[in-house]
Amino acid sequence: APKEIKRISEVVWEIPETYKKGMLVPARIYATKQLLDSMDEGVFEQVTNVACLPGIQKYALCMPDGHWGYGFPIGGVAAFDFENGVISPGGIGFDINCGMRLVKTNLTIEEVKPKLKQLVDLLFQTVPTGVGATGFVKLSNSQFDEVMVKGARWCVEHGYGWKEDLERIEEHGAIKGADPSKVSKKARERGIDQLGTLGSGNHYLEIQVVDRIFDHNIANAFGIEQEGQIVVMIHCGSRGFGHQIATDYLKVFLDAMKKYGIPLLDKELACAPIDSPEGRDYYSAMLCAANMAFANRQVILHRVREAFEKIFKKSAQDLEMHLVYDVAHNIAKAEEYEVDGKIKKLLVHRKGSTRSFGPGHPELAEIYRDTGQPVIIGGSMETGSYLLVGTKRAMEETFGSTCHGSGRTMSRHKAKKEINYNQLVKQMEERGIYVRSASKSGLVEEAGVAYKNISDVVEAVDRAGISRKVAALRPIGNIKG
Ligand code: 5GP
Ligand code: MN
Ligand code: MN
Repeated sequence: APKEIKRISEVVWEIPETYKKGMLVPARIYATKQLLDSMDEGVFEQVTNVACLPGIQKYALCMPDGHWGYGFPIGGVAAFDFENGVISPGGIGFDINCGMRLVKTNLTIEEVKPKLKQLVDLLFQTVPTGVGATGFVKLSNSQFDEVMVKGARWCVEHGYGWKEDLERIEEHGAIKGADPSKVSKKARERGIDQLGTLGSGNHYLEIQVVDRIFDHNIANAFGIEQEGQIVVMIHCGSRGFGHQIATDYLKVFLDAMKKYGIPLLDKELACAPIDSPEGRDYYSAMLCAANMAFANRQVILHRVREAFEKIFKKSAQDLEMHLVYDVAHNIAKAEEYEVDGKIKKLLVHRKGSTRSFGPGHPELAEIYRDTGQPVIIGGSMETGSYLLVGTKRAMEETFGSTCHGSGRTMSRHKAKKEINYNQLVKQMEERGIYVRSASKSGLVEEAGVAYKNISDVVEAVDRAGISRKVAALRPIGNIKG
């Protein structure tokens, strides 16, 4: 870390505005000393670059899973004033509304173990994986427009899911303000047949066991009743659709920056005023991708319920396959926060960071109003994952945000050189994890050693109080993109 960094508390660090010319606010990093020391230098450069963007409020933030990304660090949070601030695709990520979804069951590990391979093999067939994968849902152009606007609601209306699912999704699965006319023909073509697909890379569908419960009251409110219970975690986003929208508007924004006289520190930080035609267009298109991603995860949930019904010969209702929650971790949202004693409307960019709204927040459905929202954190296919809960403290310190995963430590390239596919699969099987993947090289890139220790990351956000541990989850079956 740069020598100018100051320790604010046990797990909060600050790089002052004097560190770099042009910084408008300090940068703050949430991490234990050990995690801070292991962060790549790129993170500090990127988070202080973000601190230079017009209209940024309070701090440019980085979570303990932070690592180098496109323009902004992955694990970054930045909030901009609606009046004079900017919107930046690099602060959202190419996979718009990449997110995590967790589903509970009333099955135990003893019941699932004998059928695990059958279950994973069936899911591998019904949830398409891989780079260009296409889904089973066929949409006309006008239906795809509806998906862009109504998100997961469209799915439930068309038989993919339960009505109650909607209150268990961030923004009830459909963010207002999406405008399909702002989406290019190319983006539309890439996205129209991708509903219900996982995609490639570190996207996954994982069968997990509740390994440990830290807070029984909150766990119960989330539907997590006992250790040994089976849950399913889904990680994916808006596929080629969101990627194309980000690509389209990055180009538009490079020109817009000149037009609006915004200094260009790094072309990966391309941005436009929120309150400009370019900024408004991207925001409306970005929300189309966000809603498509909610719909994508909704169709996958439907497939998961169908697979469990087939294998366990009971209805999904009888298996109590309720959605715990669905949260985005690559998105920008209009939210209100207190800044200098005044309530301001801000555009909060979360790029590899998760919303972490605490108890009492009016956006939360009644079921989670008293507890705070569930926060779903991936670890790795070998180690484990976590269920956390949002806090008031996050509202005060981090624009209602926390980490999203463990974060990479080893490059994909290095992982491919160092890890042997057959050995990895065999080792995982010996430890009781059955994995299917679309690509061999894709799988080795995702080995547990390629990631930071998830327990360290979660410990840091828990100690900082920006989210609290509820349960630890351990993988037994995994489908990788
Ligand atoms: P990202 O959204 O940055 O692409 O990845 C989210 C996080 O998911 C990563 O930081 C990593 O900790 C976690 N992750 C990646 N692959 C897997 C997997 O197969 N299973 C689980 N449980 N977590 C994973
Ligand atoms: Mn993604
Ligand atoms: Mn993701």
